[in-house]
Amino acid sequence: MKSLPYFCRGEVVRGFGRGSKELGIPTANFPDSVVEHLPADIGTGIYCGWACVGSGDVYKMVMSIGWNPYYKNTKKSMETHVIHTFKEDFYGEVLSVVMVGYIRPECSFDSLEALISAINGDIEEAKVKLDTPEHLKLKTDNFFNSSSSSSSSSSSSSTPHSPSVATTAENGFINGH
Ligand code: ADP
Ligand code: MG
Repeated sequence: MKSLPYFCRGEVVRGFGRGSKELGIPTANFPDSVVEHLPADIGTGIYCGWACVGSGDVYKMVMSIGWNPYYKNTKKSMETHVIHTFKEDFYGEVLSVVMVGYIRPECSFDSLEALISAINGDIEEAKVKLDTPEHLKLKTDNFFNSSSSSSSSSSSSSTPHSPSVATTAENGFINGH
């Protein structure tokens, strides 16, 4: 997938109330403005990468890109599960992510148990994948030090980044919010 790694950030908004949190796997939703900037070659499915809330620490994450029921499944949605236990919810905070790897396509499951065990499998796969040197280096990318600049929607794409991010920014892949 040529668009990976893909950097983006945006405000965490309310999701679809599917009760992900009750399953033990809360997913922070990005607003439409972020989803609309996804390059065409990033299709639906499960991805892994790095995430940080506000100016906090950078953690491993798994992201599901799926179809948004609010738009009759004509638009995508991006839901990030950060592999960390937070003390509180972080609606309204800026979530910064870099998607680095593709794990599997979206699929439907026969039972809730099957779904939960698939997601837990994705989390385990993400943990191992992200420890490879190629992916580990993105954890410390300058992108994660510039999250405060995202409060201004126009400045995020012109913020100085490391060379890899600058290339991405030139392609317009960094989303304001
Ligand atoms: P919603 O339908 O509003 O997205 P969820 O049940 O999916 O509700 O819960 C998502 C919310 O849980 C996030 O927006 C965030 O504020 C909070 N949250 C707490 N811990 C995490 C985590 N580890 N990863 C993602 N979101 C988390
Ligand atoms: Mg959610």
